[in-house]
Amino acid sequence: MPGIRRPSAAEGAGDPRFGAGPLLDRHGRTARDLRVSLTDRCNLRCHYCMPPEGLPWLEQPAVLDDEEVVRLVTLAVRDLGVREVRFTGGEPLLRRGLERIVAATTALRTEDGAPVSTSLTTNGIGLARRADALAAAGLRRVNVSLDTLRADRFAAITRRDRHADVLAGVEAAARAGLAPVKVNAVLLRGTNDDEAADLLRWALAGGYRLRFIEQMPLDPHGTWRREDMVTAEEILAALRAEFDLVARPGSARGAAPAETWDVTGPGGLRGDVGVIASVTRPFCGDCDRTRLTADGQVRTCLFSTSETDLRDAMRAGADDAALARRWRAAMWGKLPGHDIDDPGFLHPTRPMSAIGG
Ligand code: SAM
Ligand code: SF4
Repeated sequence: MPGIRRPSAAEGAGDPRFGAGPLLDRHGRTARDLRVSLTDRCNLRCHYCMPPEGLPWLEQPAVLDDEEVVRLVTLAVRDLGVREVRFTGGEPLLRRGLERIVAATTALRTEDGAPVSTSLTTNGIGLARRADALAAAGLRRVNVSLDTLRADRFAAITRRDRHADVLAGVEAAARAGLAPVKVNAVLLRGTNDDEAADLLRWALAGGYRLRFIEQMPLDPHGTWRREDMVTAEEILAALRAEFDLVARPGSARGAAPAETWDVTGPGGLRGDVGVIASVTRPFCGDCDRTRLTADGQVRTCLFSTSETDLRDAMRAGADDAALARRWRAAMWGKLPGHDIDDPGFLHPTRPMSAIGG
């Protein structure tokens, strides 16, 4: 893939900073939250994420197999201080070994002996069939992406007529105890930007936790325009027309990307709502993420323009200590912010679906 940095097998070797300890960076952050992409493929074609024909998918041999994924996740938890693992993609439910990978991950313990928190971000298709097995494998939580309550709009946004499957997936996840189920929604101007309050009413009634995500410049064709994006401010204004919103006490979100409000609505509806305002209220200073792509590249950020290879090193026989050094060295170089607002902002080398959202 163009623009990918492939450091020498000795990356980080000999540098005492990278021999032990967690994933620190030179700006004082520690990565505790690992996002693992299990595939770049998807069964939807959300038009802000993928073109109708899909993308040039990774060849199968390039993708980490289940054992390789488990080895790197184990390394991250055992040796690198990771405490939370979220599986994503592409669509992670397309990965046949998902339950096995989840079970192996939940069997891990952090340095303090605590269980690892495992979660999944999914479009929900097929979740109705697999929610029980995933819960049995130890999965704690799911985030299901759903941008609209209207089947016709869903078909227009995702280019597939699968709205009912997603709703069934959300309900099954809640029944399976993967609760509270979070629902991610991206509002798109002129398409579903009138649905903020409807989505919240539906989520509160169902006991789901709704999170709006500002659309980010991560589309494959680089057509994102800031002025088209529905901002956090607009979303909150639409919600306030119908709901009382009270910022969570202290409203410190820590490393969590969502700012959260307690909500009271008509008919006594209660719950919360989050807004992930990566563009208008960036939280890079508190970011605790490290990312692994489906082909075994470490990314320090969604917006990185370089990556650090672990797959080829692993396949060439690198031991765990060498892989851990590479991962620490990669994270040390994490940039302070994504600089979306900088005129020199460079579009990342991969679209969102190939990074792992
Ligand atoms: N396929 C799964 C899903 O849709 O949940 C996991 C991968 S998807 C890339 C993860 C999340 O990223 C989804 O909630 C999706 O709506 C969101 N997303 C995709 N492209 C985005 C963009 N350009 N800006 C903001 N969010 C985006
Ligand atoms: Fe697939 Fe998720 Fe991208 Fe939609 S947002 S095309 S479901 S990867």
